Amino acid sequence: MKKTAILMLIALWLVLLPDGSIVAQSGKEKKQFHWPNGTLGAVTLSYDDAIPSHFEQVAPQLEKAGLRGTFYITVDSPGFRDHPDAWRKVAAAGHELGNHSLFHPCRKDTPDQHPWLSDDYNLSKYTPDRWRREMRVANLALQLIDGKTKRTFGNTCCDNYLGPLDDKTCLEEIIPDLFVAARGEFIRQPIDPQNINFAALGHYGADGRTFEEMRDEIESAISEGKWIFYMFHGVGKGTHGLYIEAAEHAKLIDYLAANRHRIWTAPAVDITNHIKQFDAQQ
Ligand SMILES: [Zn+2]
Repeated sequence: MKKTAILMLIALWLVLLPDGSIVAQSGKEKKQFHWPNGTLGAVTLSYDDAIPSHFEQVAPQLEKAGLRGTFYITVDSPGFRDHPDAWRKVAAAGHELGNHSLFHPCRKDTPDQHPWLSDDYNLSKYTPDRWRREMRVANLALQLIDGKTKRTFGNTCCDNYLGPLDDKTCLEEIIPDLFVAARGEFIRQPIDPQNINFAALGHYGADGRTFEEMRDEIESAISEGKWIFYMFHGVGKGTHGLYIEAAEHAKLIDYLAANRHRIWTAPAVDITNHIKQFDAQQ
């Protein structure tokens, strides 16, 4: 055998092992990323704005199916302020209480943006210090409910910048000091655990969607070993201005429960921790 062919075979042997795991040529082993318990990919169901139907209907529905989700809490909303015990129960059942800010600030770069939002909470007038302090207090309020010091952030109105348009600050600069991860902007792309930006994961919308559409997205994401992150508001008409039909939501829950051996449905904080633990072992 020629010398070059032997060298090529040695190089190939260094890269590919019989079990398919990859070994770096430097000799340091690089493990393949694995989702837990033989699952192929992950799904997070997140529900925004702390509305009563979340603790009255959605959390019990998920629990009955053996699933857990992330509830993004706006602290200064009646659905949270008036029901601390109900949210304590949601957290004790294993759901994440995610941070969705104190006052739900959003960008109002033009007067017609978010007419429901007071100018006092225009994110384009926020300073980084104000945002950081408000998020810190929101974290503390949630900690007093669930006892947890680590949680994810659900970007309000999917905004990822504060301050005036000509001098914006990206929230990703502040997020690592306050949160293990943030849902980030609405980009409709699944998250690759091996190429991930924890400060802005990226997500899909679920309001007004059908089960079939979402099933196809989920199957596509898990076929690539990825994590798909959904943002919901209400479930059923009358629960929120933005909502998914209750029947479509029920079909999605049944499908995720029936496919738990293939699809890991879990709160964002749990999936983030799994990926970070893997990264720490590298
Ligand atoms: Zn919201």
